[in-house]
Amino acid sequence: MNSGKRKARLHFAMKLKYPHDVLFECIRCGSCCRDTGKRRRKIVLTSADLDSITKTTHLPLNEFSRASHTAPKPFRRIMRENYGACIFLGDNSKCGIYDSRPMICRCYPFSVEWDETNSTFSLLRNDCPGLGRGIKLQKEFFEKLAQEVMSNFKTSEETRRDFRYQ
Ligand code: SF4
Ligand code: SF4
Repeated sequence: MNSGKRKARLHFAMKLKYPHDVLFECIRCGSCCRDTGKRRRKIVLTSADLDSITKTTHLPLNEFSRASHTAPKPFRRIMRENYGACIFLGDNSKCGIYDSRPMICRCYPFSVEWDETNSTFSLLRNDCPGLGRGIKLQKEFFEKLAQEVMSNFKTSEETRRDFRYQ
């Protein structure tokens, strides 16, 4: 079976839950890339995130991330910060590694809980300025995101483990 078919089979075996009636369009404001007065933003990284960022930036792991004893498994490390903002956040509030941004950034403003049979998306933050804009999110949006989350896990151990992106 080729990987496309395998992914499709995994995809259809999975039960997907997601919030309905949500309008959203990311305006790339960078608010989710930094601490605010109301919350601390911690960017946790999987091994696939780390590989992807290393490949894009050619930076050693320790320059953009640090080990964390508190990040829940399967996350390995945490993005380094600069005065409360992700080190890849540019002066223009744009992500400097947008095409290689970590999975947690791709999911925002939603959290996702995953186990072998269920994928449940919930609205994590309602202060994201992209909410209430653009189009009403349909099932296809969350299906695509769930596929991306699934393929982000590199090892079978990571894939099997229940986790929560938030
Ligand atoms: S997800 Fe929301 S907070 Fe983050 S950049 Fe997009 S609009 Fe801004
Ligand atoms: S990687 Fe990009 S999207 Fe993610 S927190 Fe850093 S600047 Fe923001």
